[in-house]
Amino acid sequence: MGKSSKSFKIITLGCKVNQYESVYFNETFTGAGWHQARVDEPGDVVVVNTCVVTQKAAHQSRQAIRKAIRENPCGCVAAVGCYAQTAPGELAEIAGLGLIADNRMKMEVPGSLIKGRSSARMTVLLREYEPCTPFDSFEIRSFPGRARAYLKIQDGCQSFCTYCIVPFTRGPYRSLAPERVLHMLKVLSEQGFMEVVLTGIHLGMYGVDLGEGSDLVSLLRMVGREGLPLRIRLSSIEPNEIKPELIAMAASERWLCRHFHIPLQSGDGRILKMMRRKYDAPDFAALIESLHSAIPDVCIGVDVMSGFPGEDSGAHRNTLSLVRDLPLSYLHVFPFSPRPGTVAEKLKGRVDPGIIKERAAELRGIGRKKRDLFYRSCLGKEFQVIGEGRDPEAPGLMKGRSDNYLPVLYPPGQRGEGEPVQVILHGIQGGRLRGSVLD
Ligand code: SF4
Repeated sequence: MGKSSKSFKIITLGCKVNQYESVYFNETFTGAGWHQARVDEPGDVVVVNTCVVTQKAAHQSRQAIRKAIRENPCGCVAAVGCYAQTAPGELAEIAGLGLIADNRMKMEVPGSLIKGRSSARMTVLLREYEPCTPFDSFEIRSFPGRARAYLKIQDGCQSFCTYCIVPFTRGPYRSLAPERVLHMLKVLSEQGFMEVVLTGIHLGMYGVDLGEGSDLVSLLRMVGREGLPLRIRLSSIEPNEIKPELIAMAASERWLCRHFHIPLQSGDGRILKMMRRKYDAPDFAALIESLHSAIPDVCIGVDVMSGFPGEDSGAHRNTLSLVRDLPLSYLHVFPFSPRPGTVAEKLKGRVDPGIIKERAAELRGIGRKKRDLFYRSCLGKEFQVIGEGRDPEAPGLMKGRSDNYLPVLYPPGQRGEGEPVQVILHGIQGGRLRGSVLD
């Protein structure tokens, strides 16, 4: 690429869907002949793909925008995505920002920046969600810099859990048509990807907008029939949307990763109701037990929130004992943070921030033990691992992931990054599993 071509930078915060959409930005700029600016080089445009899921994420988004303006004084900085959807007025007050675009207008962003802005004034691209808002597919051709690709197949959430801002930022349920999913999987497979993570804002609602008979299980059946040389991982999925057919499929089909990431949030029935979650603690326990008994060596990761308003010590104990008793593999613990515009922001019974921190630490401690137990339960067993490159912290070794999400270190052989190897696990080293290659 000639030095005279224009340059861009993309800064991504938040979820896998944002990361996927940032790849589309990257491809669009590159396709127009632009080049990616080095970290220490100012860019002609900088796109900050924002997140507001927690107070911390919103703060980090603002910080990233301000830093981009400081470090790229002659470039155009664009703030796009969830922050722009919820608080465009706050963004408009940031001096030096060149463009604001919400999620509905996100796909227009690279085109608008490539065409160039007509004046030095801030450009604002905002559009309300409507019930028939189409699925913006952001189709990509590759997923640079990663051994596994993400594919966004679903967008939007209409659950309105009381703590969550996402339904306001991502609009109604909409899905990528099954034939387009297959097409995209073939494209990624042809690019050499051996693993694709199907992502969505509310993945378990895949297909509700596509008519009768369209759901995640029927999509996966179609994918399985294609026999593509790649494995499929599902991103986070709600507990009440993991159907027996999906469990049976993960138990019997090698191309479907034995890995479920499930948001629990609380183990207390009263708090779950206040959160407007659609299951109770016993339902959740029954689901985990059935996943564990049906799928050998399944990895079950769980999101838990500490300190939701009204969470007294009894409710916290209920969460502790639920997660302690279940065969979970890891916990992701989030301290509650009130999001403006949600029901929970106005709820009485706020928990003291110091107590929220203590409870989160207690849950994280259980999470560490769960992870260790899970790793130990896999020692002496064989797994297919897809290489992710040399590990800088373990010189001379490759790192990779098994289908059940174990981080594995193994000696490099003929196979490199992105390629599968069969590995037998024999130890734990620096929080990773150590294995020998079998083939
Ligand atoms: S299901 Fe609940 S927690 Fe998940 S995105 Fe929708 S509203 Fe938020």
